Amino acid sequence: MKILFSKISKVNYPFKLDLDNMSLVGFLKRENEQIVNLEAKMSGTFMYLCAKCGCELELNIDEDIKLSLSDGVYKDIDNQLSDTMEFFNAEIDLLEILESELNLYLSDNFYCLNCEKE
Ligand SMILES: [Zn+2]
Repeated sequence: MKILFSKISKVNYPFKLDLDNMSLVGFLKRENEQIVNLEAKMSGTFMYLCAKCGCELELNIDEDIKLSLSDGVYKDIDNQLSDTMEFFNAEIDLLEILESELNLYLSDNFYCLNCEKE
């Protein structure tokens, strides 16, 4: 799901994206000529293998996401690059955002209830 940067104004632009059992729901709003802010909730369930015993567990994900999206290269004046994502085709790729946020979330280890107790 792609949205042109030029479509986003200072008025909230709502969106909803579904991917398998996950969804990303929120809005986009222009910050300045180059930057669009995203505020969204990533939620859903994801099947995951326990990092210790390998049994299947269902993760219930419910995460608030705040990002700045840059139309082209972001000049990092204040060294605050961390939460800024750059896009180079004059459009925002919401699927890419959802996938990268999900990967970030899954980079933690998760344990099943049995292993958690130990
Ligand atoms: Zn386990």
